[in-house]
Amino acid sequence: MVYQHRYLDSSSLDLPVGKVVCIGRNYLDHIRELNNAVPETPILFMKPATALVALEQPIHLPAGRGECHHEVELAVLVGQELRDADAKAARRTVVGYGVALDLTLRDVQNELKQKGHPWEVAKAFDGSCPLSPFLKPEALTDPQATDLTLWVNGELRQQGNTRLMMVGIFELMAHISTHFTLQPGDVVLTGTPAGVGPLRSGDALVLSLAGHEFATRVA
Ligand code: ZN
Repeated sequence: MVYQHRYLDSSSLDLPVGKVVCIGRNYLDHIRELNNAVPETPILFMKPATALVALEQPIHLPAGRGECHHEVELAVLVGQELRDADAKAARRTVVGYGVALDLTLRDVQNELKQKGHPWEVAKAFDGSCPLSPFLKPEALTDPQATDLTLWVNGELRQQGNTRLMMVGIFELMAHISTHFTLQPGDVVLTGTPAGVGPLRSGDALVLSLAGHEFATRVA
C-alpha cells in the first residue's frame, strides 16, 4: 500500500509525501542509556519519503542486519514552506501531530559510528518510519507537554513526555529550517525517550500519543 498522509478523523489532507527530518539525542534519559554525549547543537539526519509506511501495516524488519530498535517519537506534519524561520513561524506551519517509530538498525549504526562513518543506512532504509494518522493541531492541548508511550507485547517499553525534550518542537523546526527548507508534506521527528530496544518477528505494539492508541505488529 502506498503511504499517504491522513488525519485520524479521515477528513481530507491533501499534501505530498516529503522527507522526514529527525533529531538524534533530544531526551536526556535516552542519551544516558546509550552512553552518548549531550550534543551542543541538534544532531540532524533525514529519512527519504520511501521510509514512510502506515503504522497499522505489519512492520518488516530488514533481514540479516542485526538488531532493529524501536524509537517512539512525536511526529509533526509541516503544511507550509519553512526556511530560516523562528519558532513562532514554525508553529504556524504545523498541520498535524502523529506518533512514529524511528526504526534503527542499532548494530549497523554502532559499527558505522565506531568507524566514524555516516550511519544513513541504519536509519533511512525503506519502511524505517512507520507513522500514525495525524491529529489536528488543536487536538493537543499543549504539544510540548504530551505523553508518548510504547508497549510491546503488553509490556511498557518507552514512556516519555514531550516536556522532557532538550530542544522544543518549534525551536527544533526553526533550527532545521536554517539547514534544510521544510516543505509542505515534510515530517519532523522530535527524538525518542529512554527505553529503546530490539523488535522481533511477531511482536505486538501499541503506541500512544496524548491517550490516542495505535496498534501494529512486526511481520
Ligand atoms: Zn530517533
